Amino acid sequence: MNIDLEIFSPVQRINNPLFDEHGVKVFLKRDDLIHPMISGNKWRKLKYLLKNAQAQHKNHLVTFGGAYSNHLLATAAAAAKFGFRATGIVRGETVDNDTLFLCKLHGMQLLFTDRDSYRDKPELFAQYFGNNKDAFFIDEGGASAEGAQGCSELIDELTETYDHIFCACGTGTTAAGIINGLTKNQLKTRFNAVPVFKNGGFIKEEIDRFLINPANFDLHTDYHFGGYGKANDELIIFIKQFVASTGIVIEPVYTGKMMYALYNLIAQDHFKPDSNILAIHSGGIWGLLGMKDKF
Ligand SMILES: *Cc1c(COP(=O)(O)O)cnc(C)c1O
Repeated sequence: MNIDLEIFSPVQRINNPLFDEHGVKVFLKRDDLIHPMISGNKWRKLKYLLKNAQAQHKNHLVTFGGAYSNHLLATAAAAAKFGFRATGIVRGETVDNDTLFLCKLHGMQLLFTDRDSYRDKPELFAQYFGNNKDAFFIDEGGASAEGAQGCSELIDELTETYDHIFCACGTGTTAAGIINGLTKNQLKTRFNAVPVFKNGGFIKEEIDRFLINPANFDLHTDYHFGGYGKANDELIIFIKQFVASTGIVIEPVYTGKMMYALYNLIAQDHFKPDSNILAIHSGGIWGLLGMKDKF
């Protein structure tokens, strides 16, 4: 089977009086529309990993994530679509939630593991699948050079040039791929990473790991709202207003923080007038399912 998806990810302009006041134009690349379950950057990160698995005749994907991981769900759905078996090794004690329900719906087998064992993923893989020649290891979040390669294709799809690109950052693989794409296409666009973790400065080294050529980029580390999966009323109000005024769904774990950062920096006159800014909607709207109680 040919492992590919037809990419539908249009660029759409977002309007807001704030943008006019500060003389900037804001666009959104709708990677959230690529697939309802294999969402956004998660498809881009999986594409070459799945092709490798297929080339190595491995038909069982084994990967890792927290109980609300978008990557687990994307892997479950991609496995189902492209004819693989899938196992998700989940951090923490046995639980059930909406994300894991969707993983199981797609046929993924779930193994729960305590937080200490979870730290050493190659060891866990060896323990459960060391003798299984069909099993293929995919790191947490799809973090890999192959993942970055898939994400770099986002830049090849652009037909306009932008002064800035904004993207939410977890493992940094998506950021690295986008920066590699900018370098490859010889674009001067400045890349802006918004880490969703507390003390997100460490993400610089994570991004550097997957860069093909060294590059400069900006890290905006003040928009974590207390840490991964954390949110406050200000963020939730922002998200509600954004969704209600654009019809585009964002969520508090990744895209909500990234868009909040962008609006906040525009309000602070961070950008030169006439700047064209492209924000990446990296998908992941199922992340809302784990945050319903915040709304
Ligand atoms: C996983 C995810 C990210 C983070 O991607 P990394 O490559 O791990 O940095 C960003 N946005 C969304 C919606 C995600 O699900």
